[in-house]
Amino acid sequence: HYYLQQIEVSSHLNAFVEIFAEEALTNARYLDEQRSKNGLHGKLHGVVIGIKDVISFKGHKLTASSHILDGFTSVYNATAVQCLLDEGAIIIGRQNCDEFAMGSSNENSAYGHVLNAADTTRVPGGSSGGSAVAVQAGLCMLSLGSDTGGSVRQPADFCGIIGLKPSYGRISRYGLIAYASSFDQIGIFGTSIDDVALALEVMSGADAYDSTVNDAPPPAASAVAGVDNATYKLAYFKESLEHPGLDPEIKAAFELFVKRLTDAGHTVQAIDFELLDYVVPTYYILTTAEASSNLSRYDGVKFGYRSAEKSDDLSVFYKQNRSEGFGKEVKRRIMLGTFVLSAGYYDAYYTKAQQIRQILSQKTQAIFGQYDAILSPTVPSPAFKIGEKSNDPIEMFLADIYTVFANLVGIPGISLPLFQHSNGMPFGMQVMTSQMNEVTLLRLSKRLM
Ligand code: GLN
Repeated sequence: HYYLQQIEVSSHLNAFVEIFAEEALTNARYLDEQRSKNGLHGKLHGVVIGIKDVISFKGHKLTASSHILDGFTSVYNATAVQCLLDEGAIIIGRQNCDEFAMGSSNENSAYGHVLNAADTTRVPGGSSGGSAVAVQAGLCMLSLGSDTGGSVRQPADFCGIIGLKPSYGRISRYGLIAYASSFDQIGIFGTSIDDVALALEVMSGADAYDSTVNDAPPPAASAVAGVDNATYKLAYFKESLEHPGLDPEIKAAFELFVKRLTDAGHTVQAIDFELLDYVVPTYYILTTAEASSNLSRYDGVKFGYRSAEKSDDLSVFYKQNRSEGFGKEVKRRIMLGTFVLSAGYYDAYYTKAQQIRQILSQKTQAIFGQYDAILSPTVPSPAFKIGEKSNDPIEMFLADIYTVFANLVGIPGISLPLFQHSNGMPFGMQVMTSQMNEVTLLRLSKRLM
């Protein structure tokens, strides 16, 4: 009841596109009965969770905030959702996002903008903007988002909460609408590291429906509990602080934080990475290529939106459905993706980008041979005004500089809400560890909070 009321009061934020009120209440009553009979029902007994509109929940609508999926209903549960339900969680609703998770401001949604609860003239970040605002405004305890290039960490930064992107292959992608399959990962928004650790433990692990899941044992929340007093060896990329778009206050806060860490006995070193300028172009070449392939299934024949125009020609029919069903940003990316995959340009773009991805992975492994974690700002600027950047996609892409790296190399990353800008907006710091090393990431995060 409490969360349903909060959602009602905050409906102007537009964080949810659908509330499962009746079902949530029925579930809550059932869990209550179970508790009085048999004690707690699971690790997440009664925990109220919202899910981004790209994650399947059986019997409920699923649209990726796109008209092209109008009327579509999930026929099965995503593995992550099933894991939450099995541990007694209550799924309270479906959250607004950028169409097909493409964007950094939640301005590309068929359901309209989401407002940042800290300042409603500003964007919440994206693409999981609704999921971030829902936690920021206290409309649920945890949210699930998806992070292909920062869509959990960046809105967490803009909204002043915690946002975790696990390692690639940590949580099954079964039931997650694909944007770029070799980058996508379900992520978690919360306000405490222990909550996030528990949700991660519950959702992690091998799954017969997703062969890319790593079969390493799930990171135990108990291994994160308590605070240690270890000292850590930390690195940051020199170039990340030389980035021309970096807000001077964010830079200063980062430098001061590094100094404090050093004073507290940790080792923090600036290292030459040299490849930072390549990460955004590499990311956008590979993700648009994968997206153009993944999104080819939305043709208006099998499911979702179908144009009212009649046509006897199949390719005209597809064109009508797709032209009317997809929004502008999604079309831009499909076209970019088909271009980089086209016969004449494949080697120049797609193959080159794959090579860079390989080099990035090798370099990253070498770094983790020497350091426990890499630190960086999460985003170069705090949350901007709604409409301020929507006409400049390149500028929007470039602001992903710090987050896309973790997805390119498959490592886990987290944004921690540590700072406040003089304009009143929160901002965070990003921490990344080696692949499948979420336990260190979360333990270290606790030390830094
Ligand atoms: N802003 C990035 C993009 O638009 C990240 C999106 C995401 O992580 N889903 O691709």
